[in-house]
Amino acid sequence: MTKGRMSVITGGYGYAVLCRVCGDKASGFHYGVHACEGCKGFFRRSIQQNVKYRVCTKGDECLIMRINRNRCQYCRLKKCLYVGMSKDAVRLGRCPKKCKPQGMPIPSPPKSPSGEYIVNPEESQMKMEQLILSIHEAQKKTLWDGFTFSGWSDYFPSTMNRNGCETQTKLITDLVTNNFTPSITRIIGFAKMIPGFLNLDKDDQIMLLKGGSLEVLLVRLAHVITVKDGMCDLMEYHKEMSEGGIKMTPLIEIIQDVIEFGLKFKQLELTNCEVALFTAVILLSADRPGLRVPDEIETLQLQVVQALQSQILLNHPNDRLVFPRLMMKLSDIRQFSVTNSDRMINVMDSRS
Ligand SMILES: [Zn+2]
Ligand SMILES: [Zn+2]
Repeated sequence: MTKGRMSVITGGYGYAVLCRVCGDKASGFHYGVHACEGCKGFFRRSIQQNVKYRVCTKGDECLIMRINRNRCQYCRLKKCLYVGMSKDAVRLGRCPKKCKPQGMPIPSPPKSPSGEYIVNPEESQMKMEQLILSIHEAQKKTLWDGFTFSGWSDYFPSTMNRNGCETQTKLITDLVTNNFTPSITRIIGFAKMIPGFLNLDKDDQIMLLKGGSLEVLLVRLAHVITVKDGMCDLMEYHKEMSEGGIKMTPLIEIIQDVIEFGLKFKQLELTNCEVALFTAVILLSADRPGLRVPDEIETLQLQVVQALQSQILLNHPNDRLVFPRLMMKLSDIRQFSVTNSDRMINVMDSRS
């Protein structure tokens, strides 16, 4: 086996190829994936010495980046395996040549232009990693615990089928007090933790939250639909709704819109971190009406867009269309918020 090439390898367009584990510049194709020397050595040691790392204290969700890759070894090893580093390749690498089987169980590197990632100069790369970590952390702290669809399923079928006024009112009251209001509060908390947000003009902060909260809520819900166990139930309701088995009310129209959006959104298979960055991009929309210093917002937004793009390129190396597809969702989301603000008012009115 060739000893580690220290030089930076480049893809077809001359961009450096990045380590699939931490995003640092890759030094080659190691144990089945493009990886840096650091992650290559870490993986080799972990497998050869069969190390059992102390279990992660942060819910196995640490984001592994160059600046923090040594912090949680548990999650780093998990990421190595997740991106496809092969234990067998390490073991075989130590094997004398004669016992090596002909074909190594290593997948070949991607041949398409999708194998290359754009690398930023050192310092801006570090700043970007900080930004990503902060926004990911902000989301972890503000993800709702109450806004799950699974909790609704207890009274959902009866509510929908009977269309009784009483249950409908109860459902709406419950949704607003227990789910909607706390969710918006958490989104405001999230916005405040986006680096730079609190330095924006005070009135602009309010306008951004007014304009973006509902949109962020939609995306968070869409993400929940994909991961929570209430999903199967929701699919059934969705089917029933589409087949016209349920009388349309403003609330049900909203829910149907959320589900329809969610089903498409989940096809992008975004990570939690990517969703966090995407919602930050939504909040930092410089084209909301009535903003005083839109330029400042745009500068901030561009940084987050870049960070989002870098994460997506790293996490979805075989699908170059994830990022453009996601960006195209922005207008769907804007439309959702326009249509449903009116419906929300109708729903609220029907309570009284
Ligand atoms: Zn690495
Ligand atoms: Zn961890």
